[in-house]
Parts: sequence; structure tokens; C-alpha cells
Amino acid sequence: MTVEFLECEALELAAVREAVSGEDYIFWFDGSDIKNRFKKACMKEQRLRCCYCQRFNNTTNNRNWQLEHILCERWYPQFFTASGNLAIVCDACNRAKSQEDVLLPQPRPDSRIETLPAEAARYSIPHPHLDDWAAHMQHVNYQIYRSNTDKGIELLRVCKLNKQAIDVAGLDYNTLVAAVRRNYFATIGNPIDAPMPNEEVVARMASVVDVQEELQIDAQLAGLETVLPRLSRGAGRRTPEKAAETALALAAKRIAAALSATRAVATTTTAFVDVAEMPARSPRAAPAPSVPPPALPRPSTRPSHILALPAPQADDVAGVETKAEPGET
Ligand SMILES: [Zn+2]
Repeated sequence: MTVEFLECEALELAAVREAVSGEDYIFWFDGSDIKNRFKKACMKEQRLRCCYCQRFNNTTNNRNWQLEHILCERWYPQFFTASGNLAIVCDACNRAKSQEDVLLPQPRPDSRIETLPAEAARYSIPHPHLDDWAAHMQHVNYQIYRSNTDKGIELLRVCKLNKQAIDVAGLDYNTLVAAVRRNYFATIGNPIDAPMPNEEVVARMASVVDVQEELQIDAQLAGLETVLPRLSRGAGRRTPEKAAETALALAAKRIAAALSATRAVATTTTAFVDVAEMPARSPRAAPAPSVPPPALPRPSTRPSHILALPAPQADDVAGVETKAEPGET
């Protein structure tokens, strides 16, 4: 089920959309309390499992969860805060999927669409809200994934779901099963590997893991039950006008930072030219020590106006989490 923004949050989003656009909107949202609460609500809804690999992550710290834009913001900025386009995702899947376009038909879907497609068939991978994950994917002890549907196979490729296991141990399926066997008999307190078929051992180990994880999930969700109402009350105390004001102030700060960065580049370049144009030394003078020219700033692939970012603010909940999470898709 999709997590929705609160009504008051939707008004804030609309007011900020009016006030700023493009990267200024994204930048404001990434540092906002709205995103903070929304992620926590997704944690509850998804029971602390990644929307793509379904791995359980035993934490409600925002830093350990990324907000996934199923249709990525690079191609579909119009859906950046469309609740149906959002879910929480683990770091590994987030990095692997990155800016991959999962809208069909490929290779050139229309990125100017105004309405978020609501049909599962329009997506090349199992959609976190429109598809049944288990209908497309199987996983063995949360490490090796298999699929026999087109969407599932595409998800294996897009999110590199088996990369983690392969990286960790250079595993093939048989090596993995051998490890699961050892783990299972150690867990039940019997070091002797009983004559039991591999598939049965794997299934039993998976249920051991399930039981352990469900206990941890219940404990974490009990904590969220107190945090979420507090964040919702906080949202109710904010106003759309104040949100727009904050977004405009942030945008102005970013312009100032960009200007200052441009001036710094100009100064460094001038100094370099001055050194390069100094007259040659007399042949009788002692040889000049080899001094490398001052290093010019490395060209950035990011737009210059987002070179300087404000310091992250304390998280609304734990007081130690950061909200800005560059690299989220
Ligand atoms: Zn994942």
C-alpha cells in the first residue's frame, strides 16, 4: 500500500512548488521534515524491508534508508514528490538502480507524461506498490535470488540482487547451500550435519531467519508507533507560508554560495596565469626548484550553484541523524 503525505504536508509541498522549482525544490525537500516523516511512515508500511530486495534492515534511522523514486527524478522530475512513486530502499539497491529508467515501453518512453502510470504493466520491474513481489521473486535465505518472470529477471539485473552474495564469498548456489547447512545445524545446536535434503535445510534456515527478523521488526515498529504521531503533530504546527519562505531562503543561499565558488575559481586561475607568465631566470642563476603550479579546482559534474551545501541539521527523532542524503534516487 502507498504511504500518503498528510494533508498539511501536501499544502506545504504545493506552496513550495509555487515558490521555487527544479533543484531548489529537490534541495528543500531533501532537508525537510516532510521527508523525514514520510520515510518513517514507509518503514512502518514496508516493515523495514527494502522495496526491491526485501532485505530486512534492523534500524529506523533515516540515514540507513534511502527514499526511492521508482521513476527517477532525472527523467521524471514531475513525480519527485508523487507519493505513488516513492518507497524506501536499501543502500545497495539504491546505488545499483541509480537513474535506471523502468518505464515501458523502452527504449524511449515519454518522459513528459503528466500522470504517474498506475498500471503495473507499464513498469519493467516489480513495482513496490502495484506488483506482488513474491509473484516475481524467490530468495534463498535472503542471499541468492531467483526469478522466472520477465519483471523478476529485470529486477535481478537492475538492482544486481545477487551481487552482494557473490561479492562476499564468490558464491555459487552449491557453495551457498553448504554454508546454509553449516549455519542451520549450528543454529539448532547440533553440529552434526544430518542427512537432510538441501532444499529442506534451506527452507528450515529461512524460517529460522524469518522468526528472528519478525521479532526484531515488531520491536522496531513499536518504537515507530510513538515517533510517527509526534512527527505528524509537528507537521500540523507548520504552515505552507513558512515552508515557502524556508525554500526561498535556501535557494538564495545556494545562489550566494555558487557566486562565491565562481569567484574562488577566478582568483585561483589568475594566480596560475601570473606564475606561468613570470620571466625566465638567467642561465647563470641557480636552477629553480621544481614547484608544481597551484592546483586548479577539479571540474565538477554537478551544477556550480550546488557546490556549497548547508550543514546537515539534526534529525527530528534521534537528534543525531542527518536528513540530506545525496545520491538518493
Ligand atoms: Zn534492497
